[in-house]
Amino acid sequence: MTLVGRLLSVIDADILPLTERGVATGNKVFGAAIVHKSDLSLVVAGTNAETVNPLWHGEVHTLKQFYELPGHPPTSELLFLSTHEPCTMCMSAITWAGFDNFYYFFSHEDSRDEFAIPHDLKILKEVFGLEPGGYRRSNAFWTAYSIPDLIDDEDEPLRTELLARRQLIADRYAVLSVQYQESKGGNDIPLS
Ligand SMILES: [Zn+2]
Repeated sequence: MTLVGRLLSVIDADILPLTERGVATGNKVFGAAIVHKSDLSLVVAGTNAETVNPLWHGEVHTLKQFYELPGHPPTSELLFLSTHEPCTMCMSAITWAGFDNFYYFFSHEDSRDEFAIPHDLKILKEVFGLEPGGYRRSNAFWTAYSIPDLIDDEDEPLRTELLARRQLIADRYAVLSVQYQESKGGNDIPLS
């Protein structure tokens, strides 16, 4: 199994079921998982829980659960998977936790345009003065990888197969996004 194929499976089988339950209780659609570099097996998956704490973004909430696991492996041995390109808080959390990588499925622009959640890009601009894509995707701490870009790099026929799987996942998120947007008037999340 290729890395990108495995990451799609983790989103599909491990993250999305948690997110479907999270969105049903008023939380955002963002999720994350941590897998071993060696065999790509799952360590932990998590989802957004901002109705409990506005800092429990999918990534930070997953890191919280990771550090609660007895005997968790060192982060140098792990890959960090985020369903959506991490916001600046989560990017910093991934940095402080010692990961040398993260992989994401949807971009910041997707979050703004397809999910009506513009806060990642707005914070990047307002707080850091950066345009979309303006952060250093490869730096002394980590390299960021876009899953759609990795799919585009694959050879046929694998590429077409992965694109079909990508679409099925995007379709599930589209349903969840509508559900979240319809429910969000009732929540008290500061940046809903
Ligand atoms: Zn975040």
